[in-house]
Amino acid sequence: MIFIIGTKERTKVDSTSGETDEFCHSCGYFAKFQRGITRNWLTLFFIPIFPFGDKTPVNICTRCGSMQH
Ligand SMILES: [Zn+2]
Repeated sequence: MIFIIGTKERTKVDSTSGETDEFCHSCGYFAKFQRGITRNWLTLFFIPIFPFGDKTPVNICTRCGSMQH
């Protein structure tokens, strides 16, 4: 049997912290940003099994979806 193991970065949006208006360097507009947490996950057959590593806070542009640290 072959196990396919990998890693994947997943971002969880923190909907409780609300939205902020910030300038997005990716799309070039003032847009609403949501806060989120990015974490690396170990995957088995491309299914995330458990998280590892540091939690990285990110701001996610709701206009273009880009993530900024
Ligand atoms: Zn943007």
